[in-house]
Amino acid sequence: MKYRRRVQAAYWRAVIIGAVVLCAMLAAVIIFVPFGGGSGQIEDEEEFEEGSFMPVEHVDEPKDVFDRFMKADFPPADGFDFPVGDPDARGGYTDIGAGEKHPGWYIAVDFCQYYMYGLHPAEDWNGMGGSNTDLGQPVRASATGKVVFSGISGSSGGVVMLQHVYYENHRKKRIRSVYKHLDDIRVKKGDIVYRRQTVGLIGQNPDRKMLAHLHLEFRHQENTGPGFWPSRYGKTKEWVQEHYEKPSSFIRAHRYLLVPQQERRLMLVDQGSGRVRLYEKGRLLTEQKLGLSQPKADGGRLPKGMYFVVKDKNRVKKAGGGSDANQPRCLQFNFPNKFDALWGLEQKLIPGEIVAQITRAWQDRRSTHENTPWTLAQGQLLLKDGTQLSPLCKKIRAGAMLVIF
Ligand SMILES: [Zn+2]
Repeated sequence: MKYRRRVQAAYWRAVIIGAVVLCAMLAAVIIFVPFGGGSGQIEDEEEFEEGSFMPVEHVDEPKDVFDRFMKADFPPADGFDFPVGDPDARGGYTDIGAGEKHPGWYIAVDFCQYYMYGLHPAEDWNGMGGSNTDLGQPVRASATGKVVFSGISGSSGGVVMLQHVYYENHRKKRIRSVYKHLDDIRVKKGDIVYRRQTVGLIGQNPDRKMLAHLHLEFRHQENTGPGFWPSRYGKTKEWVQEHYEKPSSFIRAHRYLLVPQQERRLMLVDQGSGRVRLYEKGRLLTEQKLGLSQPKADGGRLPKGMYFVVKDKNRVKKAGGGSDANQPRCLQFNFPNKFDALWGLEQKLIPGEIVAQITRAWQDRRSTHENTPWTLAQGQLLLKDGTQLSPLCKKIRAGAMLVIF
């Protein structure tokens, strides 16, 4: 344990700019400003709760925009579910002890609520049967990911922490889900777990001050250990809201996610360099440099984001009508997508119903521009590839995923 503490201390010294190390006569006392800076200065490493911090696993992210996007050391999440009940946290359960049936689940202590242990950076999910009727019910992985902690952590009892990687629009993102007070942990550190896989069973806090429940966290930090409790380190509600997600809101907003590596045809386009890459189920087929542009009447620049080709093969018409093989190829994709629509809602350009329509059509890989104030031209990409169409263009069919950077 002493060794681990020393490793953590060395790590923090390296990471935090401005950390000051003072050596006293006998013992080394480390004064250190915690990440995020400012609030809650901790003056003695002995004050660290066991398991509060952990070293950040080094992730080697490639420099190239395409490589960085495609690199996944473990399977990305294809969506998030609730870990108790059915994927929507509905559906009853049967009390293992009494054999009685109970109708479902509810949040007993909400995210950012103040209670006996200070500020709650999580949601506590309890069975509607009350008491300990939910003891021993399965806790399922919210999404596919990798186990970064599994075991007993002080006052938290049994904990499983999962690292997730997922895609949102043209961005690769990371988040961790944490499940506390587990009995019978069924996964170990380093395991890849899949969405809905049972990671353990609902148990009780070791101090038994609360009834059996699942403590569920979603956090962005990767330097905090299973036992990290923000209010114990002087962190404010605002800090927690910034570094954590309200679990049920996050899950509801991420029920359906696309995984580029699983696409039968995926085209990546980098506007900056004019490079285009084609992938098949995550395997690189070809990279080419092409002239990229918007049709003349574009009225705007090419958007960035994740789209689907809705029309292929169409060539740009020549001035005198007709078309020929020397003309640039035009790919039509389903701009605006869900994220453009959410931006439009924020800008008060479109109402919520239209956002829902666009989201549905985009997910179904259909055209989305109807009923929107955006012009069709913004959803067209001209590929000017010289005298003959490249093999790359021939492989792009309607339905293919197109990610523009
Ligand atoms: Zn809790």
